[in-house]
Amino acid sequence: MVQVESGFRSPEHIETALTDGKADLVNLVRAQIAEPDYVRKLKSGALDKIRPCLGCNQKCIGRRAQDKWISCVVNLSTGREWTRAPSIKRTSDVRKKIIIVGAGPAGLSLAAQLGHTGNEVQVFERACHPGGLPALYGKPVGKARW
Ligand code: SF4
Repeated sequence: MVQVESGFRSPEHIETALTDGKADLVNLVRAQIAEPDYVRKLKSGALDKIRPCLGCNQKCIGRRAQDKWISCVVNLSTGREWTRAPSIKRTSDVRKKIIIVGAGPAGLSLAAQLGHTGNEVQVFERACHPGGLPALYGKPVGKARW
């Protein structure tokens, strides 16, 4: 059996590795840090609902290398499950108006999670486009896939 991992983030990438016969098993690590429901969404065909890992290594490997608990720029619950989860599960009876400044991955991720729990969320961004710093990650030579 051939088991592979590292850099498998998209369903297409996984499918290719398995159907080409290059692998029998694909491990998802960062993909599931960014999207804990990755496998459930993959099995149900909800591919457009999968929150993709950026491959940036900013909060997972980057923090781990400093001997800190991991986090994730697109999943604010990562590493804070014990404190963040109860507030994320709020229901519409505690609906609030919330303003988020910054439309980078963290701001958009927070907006989405707070919005899904019945809050009214507005996001403000000084740039013309959302995306924040990760929009620059693809600029260096060899980093275009980011
Ligand atoms: S911090 Fe970046 S590389 Fe690490 S899991 Fe999150 S999106 Fe992926």
